[in-house]
Amino acid sequence: MSSDDGFAFILPLIFICFGVVFLIVARWSPNSALRWGLGYLSAAAGFATPGLLTDLPPQFQASLADLFFISAAYLNSEALFLHFGPTRLRYPRLGFAAAAYAATIYAVQYRGSLSLELILSDIAFVVLMISPVFFVWRKAVRPYEKLLLVMVGLVVFNTIFRNIVFAAIVDPGSFDRFLQSSYAYAMQATEAVLGMLLALSALASVVLRAMDGYRDAAERDPLTRLFNRRGFEAKAKAQALRPSYAATIIMCDIDHFKAINDRYGHAMGDRVLVAVAEQLEALTTKTGFASRFGGEEFVIAIPEGGDVDTERLADAMRLAIAELEWQAYGIADRITASFGIGRAEPTDPSIHDAIARADAALYAAKAAGRNRVTVQQKAMTRTTAFRMISAA
Ligand code: GH3
Ligand code: MG
Ligand code: MG
Repeated sequence: MSSDDGFAFILPLIFICFGVVFLIVARWSPNSALRWGLGYLSAAAGFATPGLLTDLPPQFQASLADLFFISAAYLNSEALFLHFGPTRLRYPRLGFAAAAYAATIYAVQYRGSLSLELILSDIAFVVLMISPVFFVWRKAVRPYEKLLLVMVGLVVFNTIFRNIVFAAIVDPGSFDRFLQSSYAYAMQATEAVLGMLLALSALASVVLRAMDGYRDAAERDPLTRLFNRRGFEAKAKAQALRPSYAATIIMCDIDHFKAINDRYGHAMGDRVLVAVAEQLEALTTKTGFASRFGGEEFVIAIPEGGDVDTERLADAMRLAIAELEWQAYGIADRITASFGIGRAEPTDPSIHDAIARADAALYAAKAAGRNRVTVQQKAMTRTTAFRMISAA
């Protein structure tokens, strides 16, 4: 077996492995993984065609391989779109793929030109693979997604480079001899390695995206999309909240929410929760984060040192909620919320001490008549003092 034979045998096998792994992963992350899987299996079939169908005339082998390769490029471009959002230009891309395939058939069957056929199938590959990149590159925010697009760029660049080399140094008469050369072999090897690296980065993107999705589901409240309690803990940890982490906690609780549910129904109660969450999220500063701790209770963490006047911020949140219009939804009452502010002390063992202070202040705001902001004063020996900073 020559080194060429070994190469022809190993490459489809590796691509089949990638295809199968993608199809398995598609159980958890169906959209793009299914296309990557079918794309890599199709590419494997393309590479395997000349080795498996040796009895067929070369032009039929070439046309069959082109069918697999162009299908693979289409499926992989579809996978790229689906990874980042909805697919775009499906029919123009399908039409382009079909026209490119028809052109390769013309080149092989009627012109008898394998070099023209190679160039045409490469043009199809380049156009199909690069078109999603134009649409999705802004959406690639995570490092592994940027890497995926860089790999697509490299594979495309390599294909263009190979064609320029063909056009510049290979004269058509000696094309068959060129294909046997060690330079052609090295280019094939480069292409195979890039193809594998692209598969690896696509696989990493699919798996990490699925994991991000699960973490998101675990750490966010599905109704308001704010962090839930677990998400709050994780975020606090990620922000390197040391035991003595200096943050101010704003705690918010909707007033008489049970009555809203009772009077207008649970679904309307949910709508109120979403609207309140939107106000809190919109007003939370960039460095802080808002979370729904449970029921109609929200906790907002604002790191100290960010030059944020948390008392004014809490009052702005209170006003924003109180000013929401509900008549259109059939709610005649004004919906308000009460706020408690608690500050972290350098000696606190955890952020939960500040949360407990905010909770105590919130309790005082409720007791004082609701729709107000209360801040806990520095603890005095045994008694606790609260200062009201705003009231309706
Ligand atoms: P207060 O002013 O003292 O805070 O009174 P409240 O009625 O707001 O407080 P209470 O704790 O008595 O009632 C909270 C209600 O929130 C009870 C519960 O049915 C409702 N609730 C909790 N989670 C949800 C939810 O996800 N959706 C809806 N619609 N209601 C919820
Ligand atoms: Mg309440
Ligand atoms: Mg409550």
